[in-house]
Amino acid sequence: MYRDRRVAALIVAAGAGLRMGAGPPKQFMRIGGRPVLARTAEAFEKNASVDDVYVVAERKRAEDCRAALGASISKLRGICAGGATRQESVFAGLAALPASVDIVLVHDAVRPFVSQSCIDRVVRLAAERGAAAAAMPAKDTVKVARDGVFTQTLDRSALYMMQTPQGFLLPLLRAAHAAARAEGFTGTDDAVLLERMGERVYLAEGDCDNIKLTTPEDIAAARAIAARSGGASDLFRVGSGYDVHRFCEGRALILGGVDIPHDLGLLGHSDADALTHALIDALLGAAALGDIGGLFPDTDARYAGISSLLLLAEAFAAVRSRGYALVNADATVAAERPRLAPYIGTMRERLARAMGTAPERISIKATTTEGLGFVGREEGVAARATVLLRED
Ligand code: MG
Repeated sequence: MYRDRRVAALIVAAGAGLRMGAGPPKQFMRIGGRPVLARTAEAFEKNASVDDVYVVAERKRAEDCRAALGASISKLRGICAGGATRQESVFAGLAALPASVDIVLVHDAVRPFVSQSCIDRVVRLAAERGAAAAAMPAKDTVKVARDGVFTQTLDRSALYMMQTPQGFLLPLLRAAHAAARAEGFTGTDDAVLLERMGERVYLAEGDCDNIKLTTPEDIAAARAIAARSGGASDLFRVGSGYDVHRFCEGRALILGGVDIPHDLGLLGHSDADALTHALIDALLGAAALGDIGGLFPDTDARYAGISSLLLLAEAFAAVRSRGYALVNADATVAAERPRLAPYIGTMRERLARAMGTAPERISIKATTTEGLGFVGREEGVAARATVLLRED
């Protein structure tokens, strides 16, 4: 509430992000370990003046929105289906708001760094004046060019770069959208819909960090802002894994996805590839996704005798889906016999292929334990792995 006015944030997350190239729409990308949409919604969750949060998204992305937001947005009242354009999406969102809302703050989902003070300024001005929009003064000289020739230099002191939030009394914005729709007018923000009706929209000071994530360069800037603004910036994550399998007769010896000629094999539910298992556990550990037994229970018949390279591919896909890429992995296999050195190059290639990465990112060493311990007594094989992930 702001002075007895009910304030709703309408977060527009319906864009397909065509300027960003391949990959998920940028509102679902992770910045500093958290989805962009979650950061954006949290800014309004935190703001004492804001009562309700609504998200407008493509119908097919409603589940992605719920996954991105998790349970952390207690003010979330609804996820509404958007339209073909931003303006149509806002129109659809406005239709979903209850009449009890006095002030609506329209905000781009891809502006995750909006500050509390910026939201406060827009709410206050919208409550006092009916309509307000965040903006920053133009820093660069702005000219008009036609056919490659500058024809006009605009007065920079009168130029502003528009941001969101833009805040309005709900009936006013609804009327402006209805008029634009009736007349077939499409604007690039909401303020212009009021301006063309002769309504005044007041200028609220924006933030320089309140950038709109539009191009790949914006993502690099966003990572820098996330790192500087504190919190858990998960630029890098490290993980470790350890696995042991017992030697037995009548089974193959498979390590790093390579079938190694030997008189003994390893016992296990899958192919018992201890090296690949250690690597999987290191990957899962780095992303805090549990362990191999949790992801692939040995009570599940689907995994009986399965190639651990398939498990590796699946585990790595889970890590990738969290927004991480592999920097490097380093592993050591301890076995008294057989000699593993001749197979290491092939192991690196197979593990790399299973993860869709380059063998140069994967290091494997082999050692004996000088006859000591269970490895030395040739009772089994042990493997350790360490991985480093980076935010992608
Ligand atoms: Mg194992």
